[in-house]
Amino acid sequence: MWKKRDFEEQRELMVRAQIIARGIKDPLVIATMKRVPRHLFVGESLVYEAYGDHPLPIGDGQTISQPYMVASMTELLELKGGERVLEIGTGSGYQAAVLAEIVREVFTVERIESLARRTEKILDKLGYKNVFISVGDGTLGLAEHSPYDAIIVTAGSPDVPPPLFEQLKEAGRLVIPISDYYGQTLVRMRKKGGKEIRERLYGCVFVPLVGKYGYR
Ligand code: SAH
Repeated sequence: MWKKRDFEEQRELMVRAQIIARGIKDPLVIATMKRVPRHLFVGESLVYEAYGDHPLPIGDGQTISQPYMVASMTELLELKGGERVLEIGTGSGYQAAVLAEIVREVFTVERIESLARRTEKILDKLGYKNVFISVGDGTLGLAEHSPYDAIIVTAGSPDVPPPLFEQLKEAGRLVIPISDYYGQTLVRMRKKGGKEIRERLYGCVFVPLVGKYGYR
């Protein structure tokens, strides 16, 4: 039988070796990564691998992102607390939980209904009351709760879906993996005077974003 304590130690180690050592500096992100029980977002057979330096399968051909990726994308959103954030690609719910520890409200969209339902149960059990899951095509965004202070897309897209940029607040940040012929690049976009400013950050690997403004 595993003990809660063992996982706390693994989390400390993960944060030191994978997160801080690679340059993540935001104290809010670091504290949150130490707190969220990542092992409870994977299937029972993967519990002991949960804090490893890699993504893991979560069923339906989907993955929970590598811990560093989650920390880095969260840091790039420049959150201070109190924000309303939109996530596209709920998956395991781990990224949503990390966001929920920092911000006021997290709206997250997942296209696979069975996965969304399973994740909803986990988040409920862990007591996250500020995460709201919708089932649907996240490339359309979620207009009813827009505009958002920040938007995070956790699946690889051919470009930024226009509805997502529209639903971003002025001065808001949007982080998304964009694919080209050579692979995927993490991109951060800011809305300034209604126009987009793009920064290309680094190479990454995500499952495809499937939808009207993603892959068909
Ligand atoms: N953030 C997740 C990682 C999820 S992997 C985590 O922390 O575990 C990407 C997820 O995006 C998958 O679950 C996939 O089903 C979902 N997805 C792909 N295209 C989508 C779309 N158009 N709308 C919503 N979700 C989508």
